[in-house]
Amino acid sequence: MSTVVVGSGLGGLTVARALSPEPCVLLTPGVLTEGAASMLAQGGIAAAVGPDDSPRLHARDTWRAGAMTGDRATIDRITSAAPRVVGGLVDLTVPFDRLPDGRLDLALEGGHSRHRVVHAGDHSGATVTAAVADAVSGLPSVTVVTGQRAVRLVLDAHGAVAGLVVADATGAQRTLEADQVVLATGGLGGLFPHTTNPLTALGQGVALAARAGARTDDLHLVQFHPTGLDVGRDPMPLLTEALRGAGAVLLADGHRFVGELQPRDVVSAAVWDALASGRQIHLDARHVDGLAARFPSVVALCAESGLDPRRDLLPVRPTVHYSMGGVTTDARARTSVPGLYAVGEVSRTGLHGANRLASNSLLEAVVTGQAAAADIRAVRGSGWRAEVPPADPATLRAAADTRVGLASVRALLGEACGVVRDGATLAAAVGRLDPLAGDDAAYVAWLVARSALAHPHSVGAHRRSDDPAVAATHGVPA
Ligand SMILES: Cc1cc2nc3c(=O)[nH]c(=O)nc-3n(C[C@H](O)[C@H](O)[C@H](O)COP(=O)(O)OP(=O)(O)OC[C@H]3O[C@@H](n4cnc5c(N)ncnc54)[C@H](O)[C@@H]3O)c2cc1C
Repeated sequence: MSTVVVGSGLGGLTVARALSPEPCVLLTPGVLTEGAASMLAQGGIAAAVGPDDSPRLHARDTWRAGAMTGDRATIDRITSAAPRVVGGLVDLTVPFDRLPDGRLDLALEGGHSRHRVVHAGDHSGATVTAAVADAVSGLPSVTVVTGQRAVRLVLDAHGAVAGLVVADATGAQRTLEADQVVLATGGLGGLFPHTTNPLTALGQGVALAARAGARTDDLHLVQFHPTGLDVGRDPMPLLTEALRGAGAVLLADGHRFVGELQPRDVVSAAVWDALASGRQIHLDARHVDGLAARFPSVVALCAESGLDPRRDLLPVRPTVHYSMGGVTTDARARTSVPGLYAVGEVSRTGLHGANRLASNSLLEAVVTGQAAAADIRAVRGSGWRAEVPPADPATLRAAADTRVGLASVRALLGEACGVVRDGATLAAAVGRLDPLAGDDAAYVAWLVARSALAHPHSVGAHRRSDDPAVAATHGVPA
C-alpha cells in the first residue's frame, strides 16, 4: 500500500509527519514549503487555550463568522482539537510568543470573542511550517520528491485511485503508482487578478479531484481582504487588519467613508463600491503611535514599493485571500473518490461556512492532515466508504489539450466573481469559460463562476447586487 501526498504546505507536511513510520512520498513543485501559503500566514493559529476561553466559545465564533452556514459537527470537532494541536506544536519547540510569566501570548483578532490566537511575531505561518518541515526532513519514512507537480490522477477500473501523473519543470511526465493520494495543494487565489495567495495557488487540487469525479462544494465562497497594498505587485502585499485596530483609517478621495473596524466583508464591500464609483482609496496610518516598532513588516513591505506609512497614504483595494469551498471531505478527510483524500485549504470541510474566522485555516490544515494520516493507517486492506455524497455530474469535465492564457481566466473571474456580483455578468463568464474547461485553470474558474451563478444570494464574504433581500445593504455605509 503506497501513499503520495501532494503539496508541502502545513497540510501536506502534517500528513507526512503523522503517517510516520508508515512510508509516503511527499511531492512538491519546488523545494519543501516553496509556493505554500502556509509560509505567508502572519496572524497565527486559533485555539481556546486561555483561562477565560473554551472550544465551545471558539465554535460559536466560528459559526457566527461563517454566516451561520458552517457544518456544526465539523466546527465542534476542529475547534475541540485546537488546544491539542497547539500542544503538539509546543512539544515540537515552535517558538510561540510568550508573556513574561511563560504563558502563551494570545492575540485578539476580528470575530473572536476571546484572546485566542497563538502567534510567533507577525510571521507565525513561516515559523510553524518551517518547524514541521524540519521534522519531516529528518523522517526516514518520507521520500520527498522535489521539482514535480501533480497533473492528473489515475483511476482503476472501479474508479478508485491507482496513481498520479506528475510533471517536472520541463513538462516531462511520469506516473507514480499509489493506493492513496492526499491532495494538500492549497487554495485558488492565483486565478484572480488581485490576490494575496502565491501565484501558483491555481486550484490545481480541485481540478485533479473533479477530473477524477470527486465532489466539490462552495467554490463561490471566496474571502476578500479589504486592504491589499495596491501598488501593482502580484501577489498583493497585505496590510494587516491590526493597522486599523491601531487607528489607521480608510479614505475615499481624502474622506473617511466606512467604519474601519466592521467585519472584513463589510469593509471590503464598501471599498469595492467606492472604487467602482471612481474614487481613490487609501489607508492612512500616518498618525498610528509607534508604527515602526509595532508594525516592522508593514514598514518593510511598503518600503519595497517606495512608500513610508509614517509619511505616505497607502493605496489599497480588496484582494482575494482564502477559498472556503473546495473538494468535499468527511471527518476522515476522505473525498467521494475511493483512495482520494483532501486536507487544508483545498478541502471543503464545512468549518468556515460562508466566511472564514481569522486564524482558523492553519488549524484546519493540521487537524485534517492528522485525520487523513490516521485514516490511511486504519484503512489499509479494508473497504472504502466516504460520508460524502457523489459529485453532481454537471460539474465534471474531462481534460483536453485546450490552452488558455491565465491572464484571460483572471480577467474573467475578476470581473464576475469580485466582492459585488450580479447574475448577468456571472452568466456571461460561465458561458465564456464553458468551452475552455479542458484547461485546468479555466475549469476551476468555470466551477467557481458556475457555483456563484447557482447561489444567487448575498451570504458571507460577497454581495449579490441583484439579490433583492440585501441589495439595500451592499452600498457604502454612511
Ligand atoms: C498572506 C496570507 C496570510 C495568511 N494568514 C493566515 C493566518 O494568520 N492564520 C491562518 O490560519 N491562515 C492564514 N492564511 C491562510 C493559510 O495560510 C492557508 O489557508 C493555509 O496555509 C493552507 O495550507 P495548505 O497546506 O492547505 O496549503 P499551502 O500552504 O498553500 O500549500 C500548498 C502546497 O501545494 C503545492 N502544490 C500546489 N499545486 C500542486 C501540484 N499540482 N502538484 C504538487 N504540489 C502542488 C504548493 O506548491 C504548496 O507546497 C493566510 C494566507 C495568506 C495568503
